Amino acid sequence: MKQSPSVPTGTYEQLVELDQNHVWHPFTQMKQYNEEPSLIIERGEGIMLYDLQGRSYYDGFSSVWLNVHGHNVPELNAAIAAQMGRVAHSTLLGMANVPSIQLAAELAHISPAGLTKVFYSDSGSTGVEIGLKMAYQYWRNRGIAGKTSFVTMREAYHGDTIGAVSVGAIPLYHEVFRPLLFPSFTVPYPNSYHHEGGAEGALAETLAQLEQTLKEHASEIAALIVEPLVQGASGIILMPPGCLTAIAKLCRAYDVLLIADEVATGFGRTGRMFACDHEGVSPDIMVVGKGLTGGYLPVAATLATHEVYNAFYADYEEQKTFFHGHSFTGNPLGCAVALESLRLMRERRIVESVEEKGQLVADRLAPLLDRPHVGEIRQQGLMIGIELVADKQSKTAYHWNERIGMLVCRRARDLGMLTRPLGNVVVFIPPLVSTNEELEAMCGILIQAIIDVTEGGWRP
Ligand SMILES: *Cc1c(COP(=O)(O)O)cnc(C)c1O
Repeated sequence: MKQSPSVPTGTYEQLVELDQNHVWHPFTQMKQYNEEPSLIIERGEGIMLYDLQGRSYYDGFSSVWLNVHGHNVPELNAAIAAQMGRVAHSTLLGMANVPSIQLAAELAHISPAGLTKVFYSDSGSTGVEIGLKMAYQYWRNRGIAGKTSFVTMREAYHGDTIGAVSVGAIPLYHEVFRPLLFPSFTVPYPNSYHHEGGAEGALAETLAQLEQTLKEHASEIAALIVEPLVQGASGIILMPPGCLTAIAKLCRAYDVLLIADEVATGFGRTGRMFACDHEGVSPDIMVVGKGLTGGYLPVAATLATHEVYNAFYADYEEQKTFFHGHSFTGNPLGCAVALESLRLMRERRIVESVEEKGQLVADRLAPLLDRPHVGEIRQQGLMIGIELVADKQSKTAYHWNERIGMLVCRRARDLGMLTRPLGNVVVFIPPLVSTNEELEAMCGILIQAIIDVTEGGWRP
C-alpha cells in the first residue's frame, strides 16, 4: 500500500520533528525534552530495546516497571494474534467475553485469600479510582453513614486521575491540583534511612500516628490505601518487616477497609506473586496493573472480597449497583495476553527465580555503598532504588535542581541501559526474565554511570 504523503515512514530527523511538533510526553518538561537528543525506540527483543538508529539498550526499568518476559515474546504475540482472530474487543457492560472470564478466575486463584471478585479497567490509576469508589459505596450500601474519607501514606503515589491524586501525597506532582482534590488523612510511610530512630523508630511512628488517626476519625474513614512493602514512586522505600501486618490489623480493629495498591509490586516483582504474600496479609480490595499483561497491553484489575461485593448485590430498586465502567473494560486482547503471561510465569517458574536473581544484584551492587555519594541501596526482589546524597555523613540531599538522578540515567543511556530516576534515587527494575549475565552487565553500567556522574563530574 502506498504511504500517505502526510505520514512519512520517517527518517530519524523527520520523526524527531514530528515528535516535537505533535507529541506531548507524560511527566516531561517539553522544553527540556526538545532541547535534548531524542530517543526513538523502534523495536525490542528479549530485554533489549533498539532505537531508530540501531543502537541497543538494556531495558533497565522494564519500560517503566511493566515488563516481565522481555519484548517481542513469541508466546505472548501468538496469544494476542489468536484472540485477534476471534474478536479484538467486546464490552463487559451487561455481557461477557471468554478471556476476561478465564483471567478473572485465574486472578482469584493466585491472589491473597478472600479476593474472589475481579473488576477490570485499563490502568493502575483507574484501578485505584475503582477501589476508592467501591470502598466508599460499600459503607453507604450497608447503611453506615459518614465514612466518606480515606487514609493514605505520606509520599504515596497511586496514579494520576483526580481520585488517585487525592490519595497521592508527593508534593511535586500533587500540590498544584490541591483545590480539585478531596481531603485525605495522611500518616507517615516508615522511611528508615531518613528517620532518626531508624527502622524501629520509623515503624513505631507510623503505627502510632495511624492508630491515633483511626481512634479519632474511623467513623469518617472508608478505607486506608497503601503500597504494600515497597512505596515505589517516592523512591523505592521499604517497609520494615511486620509493618503491613500491623497496618492490616489496625484497619480491621477500627472497621476501616484495607486497599492494597499492588500496581507496582504485583506479579513477582518483590519475590512473591504479590507483596501482601510476604506477610500473609489479605486486603479487602487489591489493585493490580503494570505487570498483569507482562507489560504488553493496558489492562488493570481491582479485586474485592465477597464481603465487599455482597454489599452491592441486591434488587435493582435498592439502588446499590456499582455504576462505574470504561469503554475497554475487560478487553479480550489484554485479558488473553495476561492469561498467557501468567501461564509462562508458572511454566518458567519466574516468581521463584526472583529471590536468587535479587541476591545476585545485591552482591554485585554492594561495593557501591563504599562510594562517597551513595547513601543507601534499597532492594526488595527485583525492585531496586539507589539513593544518591551530596553528603553521606549528614545524609544531605543533592539540590533538586542538580537533577543528579537524571544525569546518572543519561550517562547509563550512553553506556547502553535505559532507566528513569525518582529525584535523587536511581531506579533499577529489570525485567524478571533477565539472565544472570544480563543482570551483571546492567549492574556494571549502573555502577559506572553513578561513579562517572557523582565522582567524575560527567555532564552531557
Ligand atoms: C504506576 C502506579 C500506579 C498508576 O498506574 P498507571 O497504569 O500508570 O495509571 C498506581 N499505583 C502504583 C503503586 C503505581 O506504581
